[in-house]
Amino acid sequence: MSSPGYTVGIDIGGTKIAAAVVADGSGEVIGLHQTPTPARDGPDAVIDAAVTAARRAIAVAPGAVGACGIGTAGTVDAAGTVTHATDALPGWAGTDLTERFSRALAMPVTVLNDVHAIGVGEARHGAAAGCRDAFVIAIGTGIGAAIVHDGRVITGASGMAGSIGHVSVDAPMRRRCSCGRWNHLEAYACGPAIEAQHAAATGETIPLPEIAARARAGDEAARAIIAAAAGFLGRSLAQVATLLDPDVIVITGGVASLHDLIASPLHDVVASRAMPGPNRARLRFSRLGTRATILGAASAARAARRGP
Ligand SMILES: [Zn+2]
Repeated sequence: MSSPGYTVGIDIGGTKIAAAVVADGSGEVIGLHQTPTPARDGPDAVIDAAVTAARRAIAVAPGAVGACGIGTAGTVDAAGTVTHATDALPGWAGTDLTERFSRALAMPVTVLNDVHAIGVGEARHGAAAGCRDAFVIAIGTGIGAAIVHDGRVITGASGMAGSIGHVSVDAPMRRRCSCGRWNHLEAYACGPAIEAQHAAATGETIPLPEIAARARAGDEAARAIIAAAAGFLGRSLAQVATLLDPDVIVITGGVASLHDLIASPLHDVVASRAMPGPNRARLRFSRLGTRATILGAASAARAARRGP
Protein backbone atom coordinates (compact mmCIF):
# COMPACT_ATOMS: atom_id res chain seq x y z
CA MET A 1 0.00 0.00 0.00
CA SER A 2 1.38 3.38 -0.92
CA SER A 3 1.59 5.95 1.81
CA PRO A 4 -1.10 8.64 1.80
CA GLY A 5 0.09 12.12 1.03
CA TYR A 6 -1.56 13.82 3.98
CA THR A 7 -2.69 13.03 7.51
CA VAL A 8 -5.06 15.07 9.68
CA GLY A 9 -3.96 15.82 13.24
CA ILE A 10 -6.33 16.92 16.01
CA ASP A 11 -5.39 18.43 19.38
CA ILE A 12 -8.17 18.20 21.99
CA GLY A 13 -7.46 20.19 25.14
CA GLY A 14 -9.58 21.40 28.03
CA THR A 15 -9.84 24.94 26.61
CA LYS A 16 -9.19 24.65 22.89
CA ILE A 17 -9.38 22.24 19.98
CA ALA A 18 -7.04 22.55 17.00
CA ALA A 19 -6.91 20.55 13.79
CA ALA A 20 -4.73 20.69 10.69
CA VAL A 21 -3.59 18.55 7.81
CA VAL A 22 0.08 17.54 7.88
CA ALA A 23 2.06 16.78 4.73
CA ASP A 24 3.57 13.35 5.32
CA GLY A 25 7.11 14.00 4.22
CA SER A 26 7.81 17.61 5.13
CA GLY A 27 5.58 18.03 8.17
CA GLU A 28 4.08 21.17 6.64
CA VAL A 29 0.96 22.17 8.60
CA ILE A 30 -1.96 23.10 6.34
CA GLY A 31 -5.40 24.55 7.09
CA LEU A 32 -5.03 25.01 10.84
CA HIS A 33 -8.38 25.55 12.56
CA GLN A 34 -8.81 26.37 16.24
CA THR A 35 -11.99 26.55 18.26
CA PRO A 36 -12.83 26.76 21.98
CA THR A 37 -13.57 23.37 23.57
CA PRO A 38 -17.26 23.16 24.53
CA ALA A 39 -16.16 21.16 27.57
CA ARG A 40 -19.23 21.94 29.72
CA ASP A 41 -21.55 20.66 26.98
CA GLY A 42 -20.18 17.11 27.29
CA PRO A 43 -18.24 14.63 25.15
CA ASP A 44 -20.66 14.63 22.18
CA ALA A 45 -20.27 18.40 21.76
CA VAL A 46 -16.48 18.16 22.10
CA ILE A 47 -16.34 15.42 19.44
CA ASP A 48 -18.64 17.39 17.11
CA ALA A 49 -16.42 20.48 17.42
CA ALA A 50 -13.28 18.43 16.76
CA VAL A 51 -14.80 16.66 13.76
CA THR A 52 -15.91 20.01 12.32
CA ALA A 53 -12.40 21.45 12.75
CA ALA A 54 -10.88 18.33 11.13
CA ARG A 55 -13.28 18.49 8.18
CA ARG A 56 -12.41 22.14 7.58
CA ALA A 57 -8.72 21.26 7.51
CA ILE A 58 -9.32 18.25 5.24
CA ALA A 59 -11.34 20.44 2.84
CA VAL A 60 -8.25 22.52 2.01
CA ALA A 61 -5.77 19.61 1.83
CA PRO A 62 -3.89 19.57 -1.49
CA GLY A 63 -4.29 15.77 -1.76
CA ALA A 64 -5.88 12.68 -0.26
CA VAL A 65 -5.96 12.49 3.55
CA GLY A 66 -5.46 8.86 4.52
CA ALA A 67 -5.48 8.80 8.32
CA CYS A 68 -6.30 10.78 11.45
CA GLY A 69 -4.18 11.19 14.58
CA ILE A 70 -5.59 12.61 17.81
CA GLY A 71 -3.74 13.97 20.82
CA THR A 72 -6.16 14.43 23.70
CA ALA A 73 -6.13 15.53 27.29
CA GLY A 74 -6.56 12.55 29.60
CA THR A 75 -5.16 9.04 29.82
CA VAL A 76 -5.79 6.87 26.77
CA ASP A 77 -5.63 3.07 26.50
CA ALA A 78 -4.10 1.16 23.58
CA ALA A 79 -7.47 0.92 21.83
CA GLY A 80 -8.04 4.69 21.92
CA THR A 81 -10.57 4.93 24.76
CA VAL A 82 -10.10 7.67 27.34
CA THR A 83 -9.68 5.93 30.69
CA HIS A 84 -9.12 8.96 32.92
CA ALA A 85 -9.65 12.70 32.53
CA THR A 86 -9.65 15.70 34.82
CA ASP A 87 -12.61 17.99 35.53
CA ALA A 88 -11.47 20.14 32.60
CA LEU A 89 -13.34 17.70 30.33
CA PRO A 90 -16.41 16.43 32.24
CA GLY A 91 -17.55 12.99 31.09
CA TRP A 92 -14.54 12.52 28.79
CA ALA A 93 -13.41 9.33 30.58
CA GLY A 94 -15.00 6.26 28.98
CA THR A 95 -15.24 7.83 25.51
CA ASP A 96 -14.08 5.54 22.68
CA LEU A 97 -12.37 8.12 20.45
CA THR A 98 -11.16 5.59 17.87
CA GLU A 99 -14.70 4.42 17.21
CA ARG A 100 -16.28 7.88 17.22
CA PHE A 101 -13.75 9.57 14.96
CA SER A 102 -13.25 6.68 12.52
CA ARG A 103 -17.01 6.61 12.01
CA ALA A 104 -17.27 10.38 11.57
CA LEU A 105 -14.24 10.82 9.29
CA ALA A 106 -14.27 7.43 7.51
CA MET A 107 -10.53 6.82 7.91
CA PRO A 108 -8.18 4.96 10.28
CA VAL A 109 -7.72 6.77 13.61
CA THR A 110 -4.85 6.68 16.12
CA VAL A 111 -5.31 8.23 19.58
CA LEU A 112 -2.61 9.37 21.98
CA ASN A 113 -2.48 11.36 25.19
CA ASP A 114 -1.67 14.95 24.21
CA VAL A 115 1.73 15.06 25.93
CA HIS A 116 2.65 11.73 24.31
CA ALA A 117 1.71 13.31 20.97
CA ILE A 118 3.90 16.32 21.76
CA GLY A 119 6.78 13.91 22.39
CA VAL A 120 6.37 12.26 19.00
CA GLY A 121 6.05 15.68 17.34
CA GLU A 122 9.28 16.92 18.92
CA ALA A 123 11.07 13.70 17.96
CA ARG A 124 9.86 13.83 14.37
CA HIS A 125 9.92 17.56 13.59
CA GLY A 126 11.20 19.49 16.62
CA ALA A 127 13.95 19.81 19.20
CA ALA A 128 14.54 16.03 19.41
CA ALA A 129 14.69 15.44 15.64
CA GLY A 130 17.47 13.00 14.78
CA CYS A 131 17.70 11.67 18.36
CA ARG A 132 16.93 8.00 19.09
CA ASP A 133 16.04 8.48 22.77
CA ALA A 134 14.25 11.59 23.94
CA PHE A 135 12.46 12.71 27.07
CA VAL A 136 10.02 15.52 26.32
CA ILE A 137 8.57 17.35 29.32
CA ALA A 138 5.65 19.76 28.97
CA ILE A 139 5.36 22.27 31.81
CA GLY A 140 2.29 24.48 31.79
CA THR A 141 -0.80 24.37 33.97
CA GLY A 142 0.36 20.82 34.80
CA ILE A 143 3.46 18.74 34.12
CA GLY A 144 3.55 15.71 31.84
CA ALA A 145 6.16 14.03 29.71
CA ALA A 146 6.78 11.55 26.93
CA ILE A 147 9.48 8.91 26.71
CA VAL A 148 10.23 8.51 23.00
CA HIS A 149 12.39 5.79 21.44
CA ASP A 150 12.97 5.57 17.69
CA GLY A 151 10.13 8.02 17.05
CA ARG A 152 7.58 6.03 19.05
CA VAL A 153 6.27 6.96 22.46
CA ILE A 154 6.45 4.44 25.29
CA THR A 155 2.91 4.60 26.66
CA GLY A 156 3.22 2.10 29.53
CA ALA A 157 0.79 -0.63 30.57
CA SER A 158 -2.08 1.77 31.28
CA GLY A 159 -1.11 4.79 29.15
CA MET A 160 0.47 6.76 32.02
CA ALA A 161 4.19 6.41 31.27
CA GLY A 162 6.08 9.68 31.55
CA SER A 163 3.90 11.20 34.30
CA ILE A 164 6.85 12.99 35.86
CA GLY A 165 4.60 15.69 37.30
CA HIS A 166 3.40 13.07 39.75
CA VAL A 167 6.68 11.76 41.11
CA SER A 168 7.62 12.71 44.66
CA VAL A 169 10.08 15.49 45.35
CA ASP A 170 12.09 16.01 48.49
CA ALA A 171 10.68 19.21 49.93
CA PRO A 172 10.66 20.67 53.44
CA MET A 173 7.07 21.92 53.07
CA ARG A 174 3.92 20.00 52.19
CA ARG A 175 2.01 20.93 49.07
CA ARG A 176 -0.93 19.04 47.67
CA CYS A 177 -0.73 18.04 44.02
CA SER A 178 -3.62 18.35 41.53
CA CYS A 179 -3.92 14.53 41.69
CA GLY A 180 -4.61 14.66 45.44
CA ARG A 181 -1.29 13.27 46.66
CA TRP A 182 1.32 15.33 48.46
CA ASN A 183 4.66 16.77 47.32
CA HIS A 184 4.61 15.79 43.68
CA LEU A 185 6.80 17.78 41.28
CA GLU A 186 3.78 19.48 39.68
CA ALA A 187 2.92 21.15 43.00
CA TYR A 188 6.32 22.91 42.94
CA ALA A 189 7.20 23.64 39.33
CA CYS A 190 4.14 24.08 37.08
CA GLY A 191 2.93 27.57 36.11
CA PRO A 192 0.12 27.85 38.71
CA ALA A 193 2.50 26.53 41.42
CA ILE A 194 5.02 29.29 40.63
CA GLU A 195 2.20 31.87 40.66
CA ALA A 196 0.90 30.55 44.00
CA GLN A 197 4.36 30.68 45.55
CA HIS A 198 4.81 34.25 44.35
CA ALA A 199 1.43 35.21 45.82
CA ALA A 200 2.29 33.56 49.14
CA ALA A 201 5.68 35.29 49.32
CA THR A 202 4.65 38.78 48.20
CA GLY A 203 0.87 39.00 48.67
CA GLU A 204 0.56 39.82 44.97
CA THR A 205 -1.29 37.51 42.59
CA ILE A 206 0.19 38.03 39.13
CA PRO A 207 0.51 35.74 36.08
CA LEU A 208 3.67 33.81 35.23
CA PRO A 209 4.81 36.10 32.36
CA GLU A 210 4.75 39.07 34.75
CA ILE A 211 6.70 37.15 37.40
CA ALA A 212 9.25 36.34 34.68
CA ALA A 213 9.41 39.98 33.58
CA ARG A 214 10.08 41.06 37.16
CA ALA A 215 12.79 38.42 37.54
CA ARG A 216 14.46 39.69 34.36
CA ALA A 217 14.33 43.21 35.78
CA GLY A 218 16.15 42.01 38.90
CA ASP A 219 13.27 41.59 41.35
CA GLU A 220 14.70 39.40 44.12
CA ALA A 221 11.44 37.70 45.17
CA ALA A 222 10.58 36.74 41.60
CA ARG A 223 14.11 35.49 40.95
CA ALA A 224 14.12 33.37 44.11
CA ILE A 225 10.75 31.76 43.34
CA ILE A 226 11.74 30.88 39.77
CA ALA A 227 15.11 29.58 40.97
CA ALA A 228 13.39 27.35 43.54
CA ALA A 229 11.08 25.90 40.85
CA ALA A 230 14.09 25.33 38.58
CA GLY A 231 15.81 23.50 41.43
CA PHE A 232 12.93 21.06 41.89
CA LEU A 233 12.70 20.57 38.16
CA GLY A 234 16.45 20.06 37.77
CA ARG A 235 16.61 17.44 40.50
CA SER A 236 13.80 15.48 38.85
CA LEU A 237 15.43 15.78 35.42
CA ALA A 238 18.73 14.55 36.86
CA GLN A 239 16.88 11.39 37.89
CA VAL A 240 15.49 11.11 34.36
CA ALA A 241 18.96 11.55 32.87
CA THR A 242 20.28 8.73 35.05
CA LEU A 243 17.29 6.41 34.67
CA LEU A 244 16.64 6.72 30.93
CA ASP A 245 19.95 8.03 29.53
CA PRO A 246 18.22 9.99 26.76
CA ASP A 247 20.09 11.81 23.99
CA VAL A 248 18.08 14.90 24.77
CA ILE A 249 15.63 16.30 27.32
CA VAL A 250 13.24 18.72 25.63
CA ILE A 251 11.38 21.29 27.72
CA THR A 252 8.15 22.67 26.28
CA GLY A 253 4.94 24.32 27.52
CA GLY A 254 4.39 27.73 29.09
CA VAL A 255 7.27 27.44 31.58
CA ALA A 256 9.64 26.89 28.62
CA SER A 257 9.20 30.62 27.92
CA LEU A 258 11.36 31.18 31.02
CA HIS A 259 14.31 29.50 29.28
CA ASP A 260 16.54 32.55 29.65
CA LEU A 261 16.00 32.36 33.43
CA ILE A 262 16.06 28.60 34.02
CA ALA A 263 18.34 27.05 31.36
CA SER A 264 21.57 27.67 33.23
CA PRO A 265 20.40 26.57 36.72
CA LEU A 266 18.69 23.51 35.23
CA HIS A 267 21.82 22.51 33.40
CA ASP A 268 23.93 22.95 36.54
CA VAL A 269 21.57 20.90 38.72
CA VAL A 270 21.29 18.08 36.17
CA ALA A 271 25.06 18.02 35.63
CA SER A 272 25.81 17.92 39.36
CA ARG A 273 23.09 15.44 40.38
CA ALA A 274 22.98 12.87 37.56
CA MET A 275 25.28 9.86 37.74
CA PRO A 276 28.71 10.79 36.34
CA GLY A 277 29.87 9.00 33.22
CA PRO A 278 29.21 9.09 29.50
CA ASN A 279 25.60 10.19 30.10
CA ARG A 280 25.12 13.01 27.60
CA ALA A 281 21.53 14.17 28.14
CA ARG A 282 21.38 17.64 26.65
CA LEU A 283 18.68 20.11 27.63
CA ARG A 284 16.83 21.84 24.83
CA PHE A 285 13.86 24.18 24.76
CA SER A 286 11.14 23.60 22.17
CA ARG A 287 10.25 26.02 19.41
CA LEU A 288 7.42 23.96 17.92
CA GLY A 289 4.87 25.25 20.42
CA THR A 290 1.28 24.17 20.04
CA ARG A 291 1.87 22.58 16.62
CA ALA A 292 3.76 19.73 18.30
CA THR A 293 0.56 17.92 19.34
CA ILE A 294 -0.89 17.98 15.82
CA LEU A 295 2.43 16.97 14.22
CA GLY A 296 2.96 14.13 16.68
CA ALA A 297 -0.59 12.79 16.43
CA ALA A 298 -0.35 12.81 12.64
CA SER A 299 3.05 11.13 12.74
CA ALA A 300 1.75 8.38 15.06
CA ALA A 301 -1.23 7.81 12.74
CA ARG A 302 1.11 7.48 9.74
CA ALA A 303 3.30 5.02 11.65
CA ALA A 304 0.25 2.95 12.64
CA ARG A 305 -0.71 2.60 8.98
CA ARG A 306 2.76 1.39 8.11
CA GLY A 307 2.67 -1.18 10.92
CA PRO A 308 5.45 -2.19 13.30
ZN1 LIG B 1 0.33 14.38 41.56
